[in-house]
Amino acid sequence: GGFNMMSFSKPVFEGIMRVGYKTPTPIQRTAIPVILSGQDVVAMARTGSGKTACFLLPMFEALKGHVAHTGPRALILEPTRELAEQTLRFAVKLGKFTGLHCALVVGGDSMDQQFGALHKHPDILIATPGRLMHVCVEMSLRLDSVQYVVFDEADRLFELGFREQLEETLSRLAPTRQTLLFSATLPQMLADFAKAGLTNPVMIRL
Ligand code: AMP
Repeated sequence: GGFNMMSFSKPVFEGIMRVGYKTPTPIQRTAIPVILSGQDVVAMARTGSGKTACFLLPMFEALKGHVAHTGPRALILEPTRELAEQTLRFAVKLGKFTGLHCALVVGGDSMDQQFGALHKHPDILIATPGRLMHVCVEMSLRLDSVQYVVFDEADRLFELGFREQLEETLSRLAPTRQTLLFSATLPQMLADFAKAGLTNPVMIRL
């Protein structure tokens, strides 16, 4: 099956055309239908596999339809500012026709800048864990409206020592959310985290 078989709405499909993807990668072919069905997923996928579109495309579908501004509806956690910026750039390009609005919450930007970005009522937050928790505390940002969460490069998130912030993040999310975890490796600590934070996840290894 190609992208045209995945029942994407028109604005999402037009984004795929815009970035020039013709054929899904193996991880995309396997993971996207499962994620679109609403299930939690643990996917063993490294950079270069096409994992970014795996979580962005179903996210756009999950968020379509306008909702009153109750708070961010999707959260993507990245281990570094650079990866967060890269994901933001790609999300803006791929999601161009969705009308959804993304904001970056990363260390290094001033809190004033971050305050400004959050006041534009973004649908999607792309964040590093330390700064996200800081903003939750200092700006009373609530995460209970988040219905779609991605832990990207989860092994690196743990290697960089973000465990505590990740657990704190989980505790602030609504239990009814859909949760996805992408990682190149699955050490025990991460398997335990997935067990605590995801509901009956489908395991995808390619
Ligand atoms: P990622 O693993 O998401 O960082 O993607 C690695 C590279 O592959 C990026 O340059 C993507 O734009 C590209 N890519 C991902 N999926 C596809 C696809 N289905 N067709 C062509 N290129 C792709």
